[in-house]
Amino acid sequence: MRIVRFKREPNSVPLWGWITGDRIGLLEGSPLGKFKRQKADLSLEGVHLIAPVQPGKIIGVGRNFAAHAAEHGAQVPELPLLFFKPPSTVIGPGATIRLPPQSSSVEHEAELAIVIGKRGRWISIDEAPDHIFGYTAALDVTARDLQQMDDQWTRAKGFDTFCPLGPWIDTDLDPADALITCSVNGQLRQMGSTRDLVFPVYELVAYISSIMTLEPGDVVLTGTPSGVGPLLEGDEVKVEIDGIGTLTNRVRTENIPE
Ligand code: ZN
Repeated sequence: MRIVRFKREPNSVPLWGWITGDRIGLLEGSPLGKFKRQKADLSLEGVHLIAPVQPGKIIGVGRNFAAHAAEHGAQVPELPLLFFKPPSTVIGPGATIRLPPQSSSVEHEAELAIVIGKRGRWISIDEAPDHIFGYTAALDVTARDLQQMDDQWTRAKGFDTFCPLGPWIDTDLDPADALITCSVNGQLRQMGSTRDLVFPVYELVAYISSIMTLEPGDVVLTGTPSGVGPLLEGDEVKVEIDGIGTLTNRVRTENIPE
């Protein structure tokens, strides 16, 4: 099943929905708890999609594709290399990524995002599928120059708008071999399959949950394939994941308040 969050009008309240073809039906309740599906009587084009989840925490995984680690002259870590992005980084499909004035090198990292469905600590690899609600496409936007300056990546990964998610959550995706591509202005920049993840999806859930309790709605960004590159004013960036869909965002310079 495909789950979306949307608004009927730009300023109206967010609603949960489910998708069939190009139609949306309302979900009463929450897909992360109890819910009831209503008839799919809205057109997908007639509503405003927003990020399909508002996570309590976003856990990123660094250097989880060997070819991406190599393009930065870095080794693949012995254990998953974790970092946080604050929930304030999240934007939805169609929303604008803002280039902050502090960085002159903002880059795209296309990634498969795991959405947690069931609370857990010390989740085993075998139990992991049961704790995963579904998957969506993500862009782990990164201020590369600031990342290279800092030991901790909070600043480089944490600017507002640096975590586009969407367009919806797919609850049936097989994460073993999902193709991820990223294109900027129609030009292919990144391509990789989750089959090449150093630490695959279920191992990541098990490892992270050995440190912190994973809660429903939490998001794990599983790492990016090689080919990361710059995002510039006016760009249109697309993350496509086979079996999910395409997340599209525009890029603009951030306006600094007077
Ligand atoms: Zn990343």
